Amino acid sequence: MTRKFEGDRLLVATHNRGKLDEIADLLKDYNVSVVGAAEMNLPEPVEDGTTFIENARIKAHAAAKATSLPALADDSGLEIDALDGAPGVYTADWAETPTGRDFGMAMQKAYDEIRATGTPPPWTGRFCCTLVLAWPDGHDEVFPGTMPGRIVWPGRGDQGHGYDPVFQPEGYDMTFGEMDRWEKNRISHRADAFAKLVAGCFA
Ligand code: IMP
Repeated sequence: MTRKFEGDRLLVATHNRGKLDEIADLLKDYNVSVVGAAEMNLPEPVEDGTTFIENARIKAHAAAKATSLPALADDSGLEIDALDGAPGVYTADWAETPTGRDFGMAMQKAYDEIRATGTPPPWTGRFCCTLVLAWPDGHDEVFPGTMPGRIVWPGRGDQGHGYDPVFQPEGYDMTFGEMDRWEKNRISHRADAFAKLVAGCFA
């Protein structure tokens, strides 16, 4: 039985203002006031899990324990079948440089590694987003979301962020980088996970 969210304050375990606003908007019909990790001065825990679920759990439980509030965390990334699921939980790490994140470099690395395997196209994969809602008593609920698609090269489009230009979702001719934000947010891995969260814990 899925536990329902019954309080009126939810801690969102992210330091990213954009993510916080997006989540507040998604939950606006459920009488929940949403508080961010930065407002509560929470440190960012080390994400040393090897799956999206483990990393989302680490973030959600650390925040619930520190604040005594139910806490929501997400972890997301891109799995490429030709690379046995890489970059996976290391999706953001592939973009790290000494001077900040460079997703052009990360996309090039993904393409080079796929080519090195000799796998012919289509290069299938998926974006994943796992949401975890954790309570201070240690209980949690887990909601995995996915969007299947393929890697295309060269990338197309300059909307969106991260690996969006090289990801063409299944059933579409456009890449995420070519879609307007509204359309992408309607079909994405994140939308999938949020629909499950709302149906499970808030509806
Ligand atoms: P995290 O969930 O904040 O750990 O970051 C995961 C990484 O996955 C991000 O830095 C992005 O590079 C990538 N990612 C997750 N979702 C998307 C998406 O919708 N489009 C493009 N890249 C994404």
